[in-house]
Amino acid sequence: MTSSEAGHHPIAFLRRVFDLERRKGYQDSAAVGGIERLFERNLGVWLTQHPELRSHFQQLAKLVRGYSTKSPMERAELLARIMPLLDGTERISERPHRVRASKAAEERTASAKAQLVKSVDPDESVTALPGVGAQRARQLETLGISTVRDLLYLVPRRYADYTQVVPIGRLGRLVRVGEEVTCTVIGEVAQVEVRETTNGRRYVAVELRDDTGKIPVIWFNPYVARQLAVGQRIAVSGKLEGSGPYVRFRNPEWEPAEADLLNTGRIVPIYPLTHGLYQRQLRQLTRTALELALPRLNDPLPTALRQRYELPSLTWALAQLHYPESLAAAERARRRLAFDEFLVLQLGLVQRRLSWHAQPGTPVPIDRELLERFLASLPFQLTSAQRRALEEILADLAQPHPMSRLLQGDVGSGKTVVAAAAALLVHRAGFQSAILAPTEILAEQHFRTLTRLYSGLSGADRPLVALLTGSTPERDRGPILAGLASGAIGIVVGTHALLEERVQFHHLTFAVIDEQHRFGVLQRHTLRSKGKNPHVLVMTATPIPRSLALVLHGDLDLSIIDELPPGRQPVKTYVVPGRKRAEAYKFVRREIEQGHQAFVICPLVEESETIEARAATAEYERLQRDVFPDLRLGLLHGRMSSREKDEVMTRFRDGELDILVSTAVVEVGIDVPNATVILIEGAERFGLAQLHQFRGRVGRGTAPSYCLLVSDTDTEAARQRLEAVATTTDGFRLAEIDLQLRGPGEFLGTRQSGLPNLRFATLADMPTLQAARRAAEELLQDDPTLAAPEHAALAELVRARWTRSVADVS
Ligand code: ADP
Ligand code: MG
Repeated sequence: MTSSEAGHHPIAFLRRVFDLERRKGYQDSAAVGGIERLFERNLGVWLTQHPELRSHFQQLAKLVRGYSTKSPMERAELLARIMPLLDGTERISERPHRVRASKAAEERTASAKAQLVKSVDPDESVTALPGVGAQRARQLETLGISTVRDLLYLVPRRYADYTQVVPIGRLGRLVRVGEEVTCTVIGEVAQVEVRETTNGRRYVAVELRDDTGKIPVIWFNPYVARQLAVGQRIAVSGKLEGSGPYVRFRNPEWEPAEADLLNTGRIVPIYPLTHGLYQRQLRQLTRTALELALPRLNDPLPTALRQRYELPSLTWALAQLHYPESLAAAERARRRLAFDEFLVLQLGLVQRRLSWHAQPGTPVPIDRELLERFLASLPFQLTSAQRRALEEILADLAQPHPMSRLLQGDVGSGKTVVAAAAALLVHRAGFQSAILAPTEILAEQHFRTLTRLYSGLSGADRPLVALLTGSTPERDRGPILAGLASGAIGIVVGTHALLEERVQFHHLTFAVIDEQHRFGVLQRHTLRSKGKNPHVLVMTATPIPRSLALVLHGDLDLSIIDELPPGRQPVKTYVVPGRKRAEAYKFVRREIEQGHQAFVICPLVEESETIEARAATAEYERLQRDVFPDLRLGLLHGRMSSREKDEVMTRFRDGELDILVSTAVVEVGIDVPNATVILIEGAERFGLAQLHQFRGRVGRGTAPSYCLLVSDTDTEAARQRLEAVATTTDGFRLAEIDLQLRGPGEFLGTRQSGLPNLRFATLADMPTLQAARRAAEELLQDDPTLAAPEHAALAELVRARWTRSVADVS
């Protein structure tokens, strides 16, 4: 048996061989052909692999010379001298991963390897690993592990640092009151007993001894007693209890001190577990997986790229992920694996962007004179942020390749007028534009806004604008369809109705999609397909931090309007504790008595939209019956059909309702200038960015407006979050805070995340994300289809990642 080639450190391997030899009674039977022969066979390989241990190996080889001719007594004495030489020796070697053996050495051992060294294909089932049967495989399955590769990529939840090895006699001095000490001792079992506590719990009491002292160790697991014997050397790692002469270990990790230490004396991984699977079993498995599968694992990153970005190899990273030599090494390993994740994601996004940009598009000549006339006709001046975004869009439109751009701007930042200016110029160039809105009421709102914005233009300059939704009467529909097909209609605003097959354009050149997270890729694609590679502008009022935007919308170019038009009154925001709810209702009533309207947002219900709808209905009934019996209330929730939703929204907009009780569905950019107060129940359950969105529903008219954040929990953390909303008017700032506080999954909301599955990467790690983005751009610049052989592994990963999830990336 020579298995150092399989990834064992030779020192660890030798320790095992000598241990076996001892247990077999010093018969020179632990290695094929005897121990001396074992050295003859392998010394060359070991020296090449671990030049730093050269003198060590040579000393060992000298000691075992003539081993086969010695008596068992002499052998026992010899091994007693050798074993201490092996302790901890492998830590001298910096690299746990072997330098490739020389060709000659490789050939020398090739046949032995074929016979004796098993390795495992990482893509084989975990059952390919020794000791993994059907039951263990099922347990692993519940952790999401089915292949050996899954096991290699299992992320420890955290690490326990047991590297501090302390002589027992020094332990008492180590502990200070109120301080936690985690350490390792190695000693001999002096005594083992199973005892009982006063309330009848059985535990194992051990006395552990070394040259410097004794220490009690107890385990509340009687089973341990069966594995321990007096005289045995064990390593024990854990937190010390007590102080001074009374220190002890309770339920520490332990293992025989002869073996290669896996659970003690080092930095140890703490894995997620499942019923019937213990840390030490899982560690044994990851250790075995690393030994058997790493040699056959391909690094998908080309060496040049790894060097440029100073990344360690994949085998190093995976080995260090599980059994790091330091916590810094673990972090370096995590970063390498995070880079891989980000890279695969960015390759897909950049590829999509490049392939879209590579298509021929329709260049739109920009009539600057008309643009200035239009801007002069507006009752306001564009903010400089609007101006900047508009110029970015116009530059794209002028290109012979299609635009693919995301326009982000807080509620009320004035995105519509930017899109309107662009559409006007597209019309002047003789082409058509379409604006897609998620709901009828929003489509109608855009239609009115456009009509108003263009009203200052002379008849010759003014484009013909049409509105097409599900409720457009049949008799109007015919002429609209005809106008779109002939090109007589310059701009159409509509809902999903625009995506219907019978809607044909003469020359659709500019497609605007408002509030994009309500639309999937498919709709974006359908709208695109109605023109010849039209320019696409996606607009959203959801402020997304830069890192998240890169991950979610990395296929789009980004324009940001980060400035509100001057003179806007900020919405006054108050945090209201639940016990003051009655006062909040009084406040709402006063606003309504002054002729205004109000929103009441119901608490977020995570479980399901149905339960949420039921809760909202109950809240609506309660408010109507007990609180506002004399007022007109309407209800809006996610289980209503879009027609029902539109109907209620329309009645509210038209002033037929005083209060709109709603779930989070009201979020999208509806404009009801007469609504001056929004009361949000269970405010602590919403994200900060979402609260900010809600708040944007009011303050759209001239009257002062209010946002009441009602919360029954008064924990400090909840209060601080809500105070942040009360004191900050910048949506992007709130989004950043929210992302930091709650992480991306929560930030996006569970129901609509679309967030890629990231195991190692975190969005807080902007440097790694940006490095991966840059690497993706560089790689695709040289090799747009990743066709080069050194990119094959990456190409495969990108393919796998992106076919799995086309549907969830918009
Ligand atoms: P959003 O970005 O939320 O879609 P809108 O485009 O609906 O914002 O604009 C909100 C309101 O602000 C509209 O009534 C619009 O006419 C007005 N508006 C847009 N730009 C400006 C500006 N630069 N100065 C003043 N008012 C503006
Ligand atoms: Mg809008």
